Amino acid sequence: MEYEKYFSKNYYQARQKFRKLSLKNNLKLESKKIIDDLTIDFAFLETQKKEKLLILVSGTHGVEGFTGSAVQLLFLKKIFPKIKEHTSIALVHSLNPYGMRHLRRYNHNNVDLNRNYINNFENIDLDKRTISDIEKHRHMMSPQRPAKSYFTEQLLHYYYIFKTIIKIGTSRVIRATSKGQNIYPNTVAYCGAKKEEETKYLESIIKKITKDYKEVIFIDLHTGTAKRNTLNIYTRNKEYKRKLKKVNKNTYLKDTKTKRGMDYIGGNDKLFLENSKAEKSVELTLEFGPFSRINSLFSIEHTSFLITYENMITFFGPKEKLKKARQKLKERFSPNRKDYKKFVIKKSAFFFEKLFKYF
Ligand SMILES: [Zn+2]
Repeated sequence: MEYEKYFSKNYYQARQKFRKLSLKNNLKLESKKIIDDLTIDFAFLETQKKEKLLILVSGTHGVEGFTGSAVQLLFLKKIFPKIKEHTSIALVHSLNPYGMRHLRRYNHNNVDLNRNYINNFENIDLDKRTISDIEKHRHMMSPQRPAKSYFTEQLLHYYYIFKTIIKIGTSRVIRATSKGQNIYPNTVAYCGAKKEEETKYLESIIKKITKDYKEVIFIDLHTGTAKRNTLNIYTRNKEYKRKLKKVNKNTYLKDTKTKRGMDYIGGNDKLFLENSKAEKSVELTLEFGPFSRINSLFSIEHTSFLITYENMITFFGPKEKLKKARQKLKERFSPNRKDYKKFVIKKSAFFFEKLFKYF
């Protein structure tokens, strides 16, 4: 299948395809080792005149990297040849290689890299209510016992989550589990205690390459927070929000600041905006929806799902036994479905075409 070829079976295959295609297109390639034999790969090519630069990042949430990597491969193959005369490009492949290799959202320190761009860890931007919501529900956020079975584990989580929802309501539960937190290092949305290597590396890239450019667009590729086969585009930039409005059907432009749950701490969008040295900087977060549905009930199920499986992987049981948990995460965030893969490739081709009309 035409669409299938962009998607990889595992992290290594994706990296190999990315490196090969980057070199074929004469991009400069740099590999930054993070842990074991796992690397972030950075491909870069500058035009003579420094006017426009496009930065494309994949795999901030490791397991979502299968989709992000496919979009980057499509970009190199189909879009890059048409724009290389007038636009410099920088591709960061698999920002969280550990997460992509081991099929989970977080890195080897259980840090959510999209919550880790924090300049002062002594003074994290969390409101009191969110902190108390997180603290009050320790049993839900961070169980301190080994998992017995998937079934009992999920059942327990449903019990805790419904109990919590009755007390504080669905939106506060979602907020407490997604905003970012530094209270429980073993559970979801943990922002870490220091800037992780991956974050520092991305920060150094942005500082180094954006200098002297008139306009830079930064795109972070994700797959959560959207219904299957729809694309959500988040930005703070009013001009691009307007420009990209008509990307075509099944695409929704959202304001980063107002969307529930997207108003998180320490994201890559902030990292880019704070460190870009360009005259004009535009940040876009693309979410290629993998979820079968989006509603309150699904949010509850999803919260429970994420806490259960990520917690199990973080600190429960021997690694081999958790194959099933990892596969579940992969199926949820980068589903192995023909319709989804076709959607991702067709939609991103369309998106880039529109983008380069304005950029
Ligand atoms: Zn994500």
